[in-house]
Amino acid sequence: DLKGTFTLHNGVEMPYFGLGVYLSEDGKEVTNAVKWALDDGYRHIDTASVYGNEEGVGIGIKESGVDRKDIFVVSKVWNSDQGYESTIKSYESSLKRLNLDYLDLYLVHWPVKGKYKETWRAMEYLYKHRGVRAIGVSNFMQHHLEDLLTSSEVVPMVNQMEFHPYLVQQELIDFCNKNTIQYEAWSPLMQGHIFELDIMKDLAVKYNKTIAQIVLRWDLQKGVVTIPKSAKKERIWANADVFDFELTDGDVKKLEQLDRGKRFGPDPNNFDF
Ligand code: NAD
Repeated sequence: DLKGTFTLHNGVEMPYFGLGVYLSEDGKEVTNAVKWALDDGYRHIDTASVYGNEEGVGIGIKESGVDRKDIFVVSKVWNSDQGYESTIKSYESSLKRLNLDYLDLYLVHWPVKGKYKETWRAMEYLYKHRGVRAIGVSNFMQHHLEDLLTSSEVVPMVNQMEFHPYLVQQELIDFCNKNTIQYEAWSPLMQGHIFELDIMKDLAVKYNKTIAQIVLRWDLQKGVVTIPKSAKKERIWANADVFDFELTDGDVKKLEQLDRGKRFGPDPNNFDF
């Protein structure tokens, strides 16, 4: 169910279904989205300092009436804040804007060349001394992870990547699994393009579910955490209705076979300004 979790390598339970809030406007829009989600049983919210909506997210959390300790709150350090001291400062600014005293997961948003190792040292400090419950990375390809692992004390608990039927990156998933790094999907709905695919329309008819529900169910069956974004109440609620059916192994494979290495977001190998 919505409170179901995957266990990170340090024992922390991460709800495998969350709400993404990229492009949800700070203020009423994001506050309402967070409240509707929590009201529906979501227990995981994914924001970032660069989204500019941490204040609204924090207000939504407070106004929801749900216990802070029952919500898994994620934010990310932005590229221009990378480096040791500035990452620690950035964490504190995020907390202040969110009006929280700890995060459940803090992520390095992108692998900024020449900086991400120093940034990771700061993440380790935040994990050991400032109460952040888990630390991880985002947009790290295998070579970034291999490089990071040569000097890290703490293995990242999570790698949040663009992931959908057009961009599976199965070798990277396998590498993460082997190294106890939980894989997580961003843009699981292909930023809306998933709704255009005929095969998705066919599967929706076959299972009597929506296209969003089919692809989000696929994420979970692949062991991947998923954080679809919507700011509309009906969609937030409907998207999460994925716990009353199961895709056959054949259909899971069918979606994997749509893979064509196509990105809708930036390429991690050159997005580090
Ligand atoms: P997404 O794949 O979740 O798609 C969102 C789009 O689909 C929106 O336009 C929304 O209006 C539409 N949509 C949602 N539900 C729908 C429904 N039921 N029917 C029709 N349309 C629907 O895209 P995303 O927002 O890019 O990704 C999800 C989250 O991942 C983000 O909000 C953010 O939290 C995170 N993210 C992280 C990174 C990163 O670099 N780490 C990058 C992008 C996104």
